[in-house]
Amino acid sequence: MKVLVPVKRVVDYNVKVRVKSDQTGVDIANVKMSMNPFDEIAVEEATRLKESGAATEVIAISCGVAQSQETLRTALAIGADRATLVQTDVELQPLAVAKLIKAVVDKEQPQLVILGKQAIDDDANQTGQMLAALLDWPQATFASKIEVSGDSVSVTREVDGGLETLKLSLPAVITTDLRLNEPRYVTLPNIMKAKKKPLETLTPEELGIDVAPRIKTLKVTEPPARAAGIMVPDVATLVEKLKNEAKVI
Ligand code: AMP
Repeated sequence: MKVLVPVKRVVDYNVKVRVKSDQTGVDIANVKMSMNPFDEIAVEEATRLKESGAATEVIAISCGVAQSQETLRTALAIGADRATLVQTDVELQPLAVAKLIKAVVDKEQPQLVILGKQAIDDDANQTGQMLAALLDWPQATFASKIEVSGDSVSVTREVDGGLETLKLSLPAVITTDLRLNEPRYVTLPNIMKAKKKPLETLTPEELGIDVAPRIKTLKVTEPPARAAGIMVPDVATLVEKLKNEAKVI
């Protein structure tokens, strides 16, 4: 069973982003970039499936600028066997990414695609769902446990009231939640080995996909600054203020 894992290069989660002065977006010049954390979990899960014998090959794919190669090398160092970069300088929106991944799925014929539930830059939470719709495959989002057996996969997912377990027939699309696993540390020997693993580069034109943006960002602004808090001397004053000033109790 081949597993395809889409990974996105995003601003590192430790970076405090700043809005550009012209309000067209956030400033990513000279900012640390990393693999989207949910995608790291997806690569880890695919690698574990391979180590357990359930998967035979793990292929990482990233769509975006040339530097996304670094993200793919990280996926190869975690355990992916080979990687595909769909290279473009065009700003990619979830529908365009889903179409590009679908084109690669048509080419590679994996049985499972494991994506992150959302990319932490735009927080869209759309690509996996759109991909499943385009492929007309079953999907299970926000997975906290994945078990492959034969031609089906059981996925436990986190829902508001607790946990839900779904059984999907393969091929299928799964998106990862935070508690699915804890990704391993990437070791130096594996980083060195990853440099020798195959990485192919394609373009949206070669795949026949139009990636022109369909949504226009009008402006990006900082959230309003929060008013300063106050210290109260005791619980009685707190309760009095909650009752009479905030009127929440
Ligand atoms: P989103 O719908 O943008 O929140 O992204 C959800 C998931 O789709 C991510 O966690 C990735 O697995 C995948 N994805 C989104 N954008 C890209 C991209 N440019 N290249 C590869 N995978 C992507």
